[in-house]
Amino acid sequence: MAAMDKEIMEQYKGVYVFAQQVDNELSGIAFELLGKAKDLAADLNADVTAVLIGSGVKGLVDQLAEYGADKVIVVDDPELKDYRTEPYTHALASVINEYKPEIVLVGATAIGRDLGPRVSARVETGLTADCTVLEIGDFPLNPIPGKEQKHNQLLMTRPAFGGNTIATIACPDNRPQMATVRPGVMQKIAPVAGAKAEVIEYNPGFTPDNKYVEIMEIVKNVADTVDIMDAKILVSGGRGVGSPENFKILEDLAEAIGGTVSCSRAVVDSGWKPKDLQVGQTGKTVRPNVYFAIGISGAIQHVAGMEESDIIIAINKDEDAPIFDVADYGVVGDLNKIVPMLTAKIKDAIA
Ligand code: FAD
Repeated sequence: MAAMDKEIMEQYKGVYVFAQQVDNELSGIAFELLGKAKDLAADLNADVTAVLIGSGVKGLVDQLAEYGADKVIVVDDPELKDYRTEPYTHALASVINEYKPEIVLVGATAIGRDLGPRVSARVETGLTADCTVLEIGDFPLNPIPGKEQKHNQLLMTRPAFGGNTIATIACPDNRPQMATVRPGVMQKIAPVAGAKAEVIEYNPGFTPDNKYVEIMEIVKNVADTVDIMDAKILVSGGRGVGSPENFKILEDLAEAIGGTVSCSRAVVDSGWKPKDLQVGQTGKTVRPNVYFAIGISGAIQHVAGMEESDIIIAINKDEDAPIFDVADYGVVGDLNKIVPMLTAKIKDAIA
């Protein structure tokens, strides 16, 4: 990828967020990205713009304003009713080419993971996937003799090499600087009731070239469990639970305290629980009020998905288990004894 001309690069201004919606309902990630975009825009003295793509979606503009958008660019077209790679790529890439944002943030959802890289290739810039930290700073981080240190760059931090190291990546020679961020990582702001955004309607036009997949039928995945990312209390089990049947003692605890069961990857890999319930780097990032880590060793890839929980309670028979390094409360002992005792005490206290 060739470096951009400096004068052209300077035309790129503002922090843009792809405001994902499905069935005309904004996804939580849109609000989380707006929260982060506000911080970045404050450092750059720039505006926050949400890019809202869909069909009949104008009614969602005020919600985006309440969560921090100064402007909303609406691309509204019947071709954009349901997500399809080509029309959405055409829409977002066209917005970027027309309005020249300095930064574009996209959620690392199923849609965002499909859309983000295609758009970045289309507009000939880089994209850092699955970022956990985004900030404005100098790049390279420390001056290197003979190399220009650029200021006000988007520093994009993400786990690398299977989570064994953390890499900070920048895109100093091209614009926009693009990143995807997993749901649950960034924090939304408290909504400001009645806030209004400037609305810009833009439609690049759609041709057979950019709508060549036809949707015949949409089959929705109907989940009968609470999304672990929304749960206030998570009772999470690891390989130490021993068997799928033994998860019953965690389910009893969860029921007693109004929590939801989640798990480590070892549990998913063993086929004991579905992938939907996995916490961690390759699972979901959770931030509950209380996180029970039961029979979970505390591998770095697991901790990456739950360390922001308000209170972490670990139960493990190995007093040296790394989970105790991040736990607020730790119980060393056999989970088969401790968990039922805890459940009984909680039930007594509630009765
Ligand atoms: P173990 O490490 O086997 O730990 C079991 C724990 O249970 C031990 O600490 C043991 O002392 C305790 N125990 C056993 N019996 C009892 C008992 N009776 N009472 C009390 N305690 C008991 N992992 C994730 O969880 N999420 C991810 O998203 C994830 N992504 C990964 C991505 C990559 C690229 C890689 C390489 C790995 C990833 N992993 C992930 C795997 C991770 O490295 C660990 O292997 C995994 O988290 C271990 O799961 P565990 O703690 O349940 O099992």
